[in-house]
Amino acid sequence: MSLLEPRDVIDHVTDITPGFLGTRGLSGLLIDLDNTLVPYGSYSDAEAAGIIRWARDLQQLGTGLYLLSNATGKRAAYWLERLEFNGVGLAGKPNPRAYRRALRTLGLAPRQVGMVGDQLFTDVLGGNLAGLHTILVRPLQGNALPHTRAARRLERLVLRRYGHDWRT
Ligand SMILES: [Mg+2]
Repeated sequence: MSLLEPRDVIDHVTDITPGFLGTRGLSGLLIDLDNTLVPYGSYSDAEAAGIIRWARDLQQLGTGLYLLSNATGKRAAYWLERLEFNGVGLAGKPNPRAYRRALRTLGLAPRQVGMVGDQLFTDVLGGNLAGLHTILVRPLQGNALPHTRAARRLERLVLRRYGHDWRT
């Protein structure tokens, strides 16, 4: 399997239900922040209400959650206060070091944990390097940064090779 190939491709993070986790044998999730849980750069608590409820429900059923974000520590801290689970900013994805630290915090083995994120070259690559079950989610919104647009074009090319028609 290629290091850039996600194991699952989903439309929205709330597609991850207890049943979804159960059939894949997953007990925990590492979750990206920007464009996965909330729109890029968003500080809107109202927009995040559904996500916060989703996370709380999964945790009540025993799923370990951990925020793995490359955003600034300050931005990650803002959302960690609201999300009610552990995590870090400045994670340095795709470097697998932060993934391994997250696994230690959750007390789970790589095969028991999913990595959910919207970017192939950070979230999925790092997750595959760390031996996790990778789940690519459709980005919540377009991102105008030129390097992100370039990455999106490459992602579309790679995903087409794997048989996913990915429009963002
Ligand atoms: Mg992201």
